[in-house]
Amino acid sequence: VKPIVAVVGRPNVGKSTLFNKIAGSRISIVEDTPGVTRDRIYADCEWIGKPFTLIDTGGIEPHSNDIILAQMRRQAQLAIDTADVIVFIVDGREGMTAADLDVANMIRKSMRPIVLVVNKVENKEIENNLYEFYNLGLGDPMPISAEQALGLGDMLDRVVENF
Ligand code: GDP
Ligand code: MG
Repeated sequence: VKPIVAVVGRPNVGKSTLFNKIAGSRISIVEDTPGVTRDRIYADCEWIGKPFTLIDTGGIEPHSNDIILAQMRRQAQLAIDTADVIVFIVDGREGMTAADLDVANMIRKSMRPIVLVVNKVENKEIENNLYEFYNLGLGDPMPISAEQALGLGDMLDRVVENF
C-alpha cells in the first residue's frame, strides 16, 4: 500500500493548483457524484522513485461562510484520518487567517507529519510574509508557487522524507 499524502488548507489557497501540478495527467480516480460536493480527488504520483497517492481535499462550492467552514473542517478531518503525510498549504499573499489557525489546530492533533507550505510566493517581497507562519508552530514554512512550479522539488523532498 502506497503512502497517502493529503493537501489540506482553507479554500482558495491553491490546493487544486498544487495537486494538478504534481499529479499532471496521472489522475486515477475522480469522485464526482452529481448533486454532491466533490470531496476528494486522488492521483497516483511518484517522486525520486517513491510512489504515493496524493489527495486534493478541495471541491468546495460557493456557499455561506458557515457552510464553507463546516465543509472545510469535515474535509480536513477526512484527509487527516487517512493521510500518512499532510501538506498544509497557506496563502503567502493573504497572510495568516483565522481559518488557517482552525485547520492548523485540527491537523496538529493528528500527530501526523506535516509539511507547511506557503503558496503564491513568486517574488522576494512576498517572501517577507513567510515569517508570520512560524507562529503556527508547525515547523519551517516552505515557500512555493504552485502556479509557476517554484519550490515543488524541495517540498516533495520533504514529503517523501516522512514516508
Ligand atoms: P483551492 O481552493 O485551495 O483548491 O485553490 P485553487 O487551486 O482553486 O486556487 C485558488 C486561486 O489561487 C486561483 O485563482 C488560482 O489561480 C490562484 N493560485 C493558485 N496557486 C497560485 C500561485 O502559486 N500563485 C498565484 N499568484 N496564484 C495562485
Ligand atoms: Mg480546490
